[in-house]
Amino acid sequence: MTFDEAGLCESLRKNVTKSGYVKPTPVQKHGIPIISAGRDLMACAQTGSGKTAAFLLPILQRLMADGVAASKFSEVQEPEAIIVAPTRELINQIYLEARKFAYGTCVRPVVVYGGINTGYTIREVLKGCNVLCGTPGRLLDIIGRGKVGLSKLRYLVLDEADRMLDMGFEPDMRKLVGSPGMPPKEDRQTLMFSATYPEDIQRMAADFLKVDYIFLA
Ligand code: AMP
Repeated sequence: MTFDEAGLCESLRKNVTKSGYVKPTPVQKHGIPIISAGRDLMACAQTGSGKTAAFLLPILQRLMADGVAASKFSEVQEPEAIIVAPTRELINQIYLEARKFAYGTCVRPVVVYGGINTGYTIREVLKGCNVLCGTPGRLLDIIGRGKVGLSKLRYLVLDEADRMLDMGFEPDMRKLVGSPGMPPKEDRQTLMFSATYPEDIQRMAADFLKVDYIFLA
């Protein structure tokens, strides 16, 4: 697969070129077709592999293609995708990449993490947000306060899953995935990325992903 064959709309394709990406990295080449086909995915990929674009591009493409993002921004939009990463640095990088790719389109990414004023965060989310990026604790906080509706959620991405476990986030992850209103795994597409694939990650994959998920190493 090349970027021309990735089925991206013109704006996304232009933003990929503007980012200086000429050739897909292996995780993009193999991951994008799997995600575009709607399959759940457990991918072993390191930081630096290009995994962020591997999940963002097919998700953004689908949101635009379905025209959900084309609705007017006077309407409050609930997130259609939630992306979770363990640290503020990492989630901010993902958010900036999402903004870069979504530039000039109606998709609005928002980032939430501890340290940003909660009131500000909630106002940003309530302005309408298609792609909500966050650390586990802050996501749980705003979802627990009933500030973020999950009825439109179609994509759940758990990035650097092994680091989340190392940092003690497993209970938060499980609470988040089990939040009231979170669509069951049969009704959402779940993507997990992890540098390693030990037993506890395998267990999480079995719990969070559909039984026929694809494993990519
Ligand atoms: P990631 O593994 O997603 O954190 O990406 C690592 C770095 O590689 C980031 O700085 C990306 O901007 C860059 N990158 C990702 N995909 C490509 C690509 N296809 N061509 C060139 N650079 C890329």
